[in-house]
Amino acid sequence: MIRVPSYRDRDVAVFGLARSGIAAARALASGGARVSVWDDSDASRRAAADEGLALGDPAGLDWRREAALVLSPGVPLTHPTPHPVVALARDAGCPILGDIDLFAQAEKTLPAHSVAVVTGTNGKSTTTALLAHLVAACGGHSVACGNIGQPILDLEPLPDGGVYVIEMSSYQIDLTHALRPEVAILLNITPDHLDRHGGMANYVAVKRRIFDWQDARGVAVIGVDDEYGQEAVDRLAARGRNVVPVTVAGRSDVGVSVQDARLYDSAISPSEPVCSLDGIESLRGRHNWQNAAAAYAAARALGFAPDAIAEALRSFPGLAHRMELVATVRGVRYVNDSKATNADATARALDSFERVRWIAGGRAKEGGIESLRPWFPRVVRAYLIGEAQEAFAAVLERAGVAVERCGTMERAVAAAARDAHADDVVLLSPACASFDQYRNFEIRGDHFRALVSGLTGDSAPC
Ligand code: ADP
Repeated sequence: MIRVPSYRDRDVAVFGLARSGIAAARALASGGARVSVWDDSDASRRAAADEGLALGDPAGLDWRREAALVLSPGVPLTHPTPHPVVALARDAGCPILGDIDLFAQAEKTLPAHSVAVVTGTNGKSTTTALLAHLVAACGGHSVACGNIGQPILDLEPLPDGGVYVIEMSSYQIDLTHALRPEVAILLNITPDHLDRHGGMANYVAVKRRIFDWQDARGVAVIGVDDEYGQEAVDRLAARGRNVVPVTVAGRSDVGVSVQDARLYDSAISPSEPVCSLDGIESLRGRHNWQNAAAAYAAARALGFAPDAIAEALRSFPGLAHRMELVATVRGVRYVNDSKATNADATARALDSFERVRWIAGGRAKEGGIESLRPWFPRVVRAYLIGEAQEAFAAVLERAGVAVERCGTMERAVAAAARDAHADDVVLLSPACASFDQYRNFEIRGDHFRALVSGLTGDSAPC
């Protein structure tokens, strides 16, 4: 655990008792703060009390005495409307912050280290895990944390020279003030979660704030394949900051770029690639090239050698549930992309394969799968499940795609396995939330994996 000593003998309220809230409460208490915790859910309050944490209903606290409100990123800070606890703290002038800000306050007690933060609309987890992997494979110490893995305050401090790679959602950025990352990565910006950010302008402003945290020595790695990224590069460059633009739209004379799976670093050579990403299963698809280029740029900024990074890219195991190759059975690849809970994410998956037996459905998002039409020619047959089954079937049948209404994952996997020929890909990429049939996308993906491992044949687990 990382102790947070900055509130010794002072009162701190922790609101939102998921894993990171509990970790924050423990880290504060072990640093000598008087901590009271609360959550709107009865069950969470009971679990915290069982852990020996002191409950304190926000309505009954004297907010002028609270030195801080530590808020879970899941609790609305601004949009659509601030949670009542936010209003209570604000009205009393009590600072509101998140667990990553507590980590920042505790940094001076830790062995010498670097911090890299990763944000963007898509690819955060992959890039965070990849950068942590690159550092480790190059011989350094690292941990992937923040939105991914363990809560940051639950970590054991890294040894001297370690790198904390922190995935940050917009909500976490909103709650962070004291962090000074050596490297800050903004991958991309597309509309998402706008309901909780009061529109696109504010969403973009929040994402860009990670660069305001950096001083002149910091390095900003920015994906420029959308209009917002290029704008951020121009603004920071005008201020004389170290900026590395990243593009996968073709070879570039600046920054790091990818063309035809070849990765170029303009600081080394504008025309000779550093390496090829071809054949790296875990980094398949152009979107993953963006993640790879950004992680490469960050690892360079942290001082690792290009050749070592290039070698390390090849051994990235990938993340579960994101285009994860779970097995090859009789030449058929089974790919778990359960994390694709919207059409945009599924588009990336369909784009990565030629002959797809597509398992889709669940609880549909607005817009459904209309936007996936350009990829329908790749779908040999669709195996539909969940609430969205009829709606998806209607769209697909109108477009002339063969459809089988399977209802459940069991039937979908069995039917796809029955039909598949060597070189087909059986792809679970639901373009839907899981909540109609599963508690979350991880459990859905695990179910798919278990069913695949139950298929008979020469199965080669990956
Ligand atoms: P996040 O943590 O931002 O949600 P993940 O790394 O978990 O992102 O990837 C989620 C899904 O988003 C993946 O299944 C993939 O389809 C898609 N994705 C990954 N990287 C990118 C990227 N750089 N650009 C666009 N989409 C991406």
